[in-house]
Amino acid sequence: MKTIVIRAGKERSLQRRHPWIFESSIARGGADAGETVRVEAADGAFLCWGAFSPTSQIRVRAWSFDEAQRIDAAFFEQRIARALAVRARLGIQSNAMRLIHGEADGLPGLVVDRYSDTLVAQFLANGVERWKDVIADQLLAATGLSRLYERSDAQVRDLEGLAQKTGWLRGGGATEVAISEHQWQLTLDVAEGHKTGYYLDQRDNRKKFADSVRQYGCKTVLNCYSYTGGFSVAALAGGAEEVISIDSSGPALARASAHVVLNGFDPARHQALDADVNATLRAFIKEGRQFDAIVLDPPKFAPTAAHAERAARAYKDINRLGLMLLKPGGLLFTFSCSGGVGPELFHKIVAGAGLDAPCDGFILDRVGATPDHPQTICFPEGEYLKGLLILKS
Ligand code: SAH
Repeated sequence: MKTIVIRAGKERSLQRRHPWIFESSIARGGADAGETVRVEAADGAFLCWGAFSPTSQIRVRAWSFDEAQRIDAAFFEQRIARALAVRARLGIQSNAMRLIHGEADGLPGLVVDRYSDTLVAQFLANGVERWKDVIADQLLAATGLSRLYERSDAQVRDLEGLAQKTGWLRGGGATEVAISEHQWQLTLDVAEGHKTGYYLDQRDNRKKFADSVRQYGCKTVLNCYSYTGGFSVAALAGGAEEVISIDSSGPALARASAHVVLNGFDPARHQALDADVNATLRAFIKEGRQFDAIVLDPPKFAPTAAHAERAARAYKDINRLGLMLLKPGGLLFTFSCSGGVGPELFHKIVAGAGLDAPCDGFILDRVGATPDHPQTICFPEGEYLKGLLILKS
């Protein structure tokens, strides 16, 4: 077993059970990609077992802070069982959910989503890459399923020195999958869809939106960055008469239109616009259009805190435009999934948008990701999705 020694004073975050060790905190030691290492403080005290990543800034990801723990197949079996046991208690209103959410489930770099009978996994760090076969077999054993598709095509693989990889890891067949979410039927393609195929983290916010559209009697709804129309179906279910989905992805919009029909809604109530959101919002303002409810769920504008300033301007701009297009008494459901933009900063950005619009509004709700994408006490970096539900004054 190879040992990594931490610089004096740099052991504190590990003692607080934070799972990342940066290259700059390491005094000495090295190992192969994904190899299990023993991490020690400068005085030789045990800190954790971890997986080594030779090229990443995050040089070691902790597996366990328990010196007696062995990192073997049984370890992965236990971690997977623990993650699944929690999911079973969360009351998830869907047959699609995140089963493993990386660090929060004690499996750094591993993301596993279940879509009905199909599992989709992302192996995003050297540790889980090295244990891939063990993890794949254990995931099937723990769920009783036979199909596992790999979507290790995320950019972060580059930082780990890992090539992108996709395809069936276990089982095979059609990559098109049908799921249910709340009372809605949805479809996705695990090979072609964004991330692992769908944005499961917004599940409860889509339900909240349906309920709010109904409660506030919203008739005209603009769903910006709609992807496959989850919020559009929710709006129709909430009683909206006219819903516009805007996205720059043609295939996503085609699926959004199909979802409207699949859920029994008149396709005449839905319009799919293949366009840039910002430009469309400006055009709508020029045309003097107004809406009862608007969703703004953009992609990650700030991948890291370093991009926060530029991202802040982009968030502020779309929120200002959105608020301008809302009727008084209308609803804005606005989100940021940038880890680099915290909830306080996001609130400030939206406040700035309100000042410029100009308008004020009640914050009806502050929301985050669904609980199957957990945040843990010891890993604040796990917080990424934040949203505000605003009632325009
Ligand atoms: N709200 C969706 C998820 C949105 S993900 C859901 O509930 O499923 C963000 C989406 O923004 C992606 O579908 C992406 O294609 C789209 N997108 C990114 N940049 C865009 C732009 N400039 N204009 C329009 N859509 C954009």
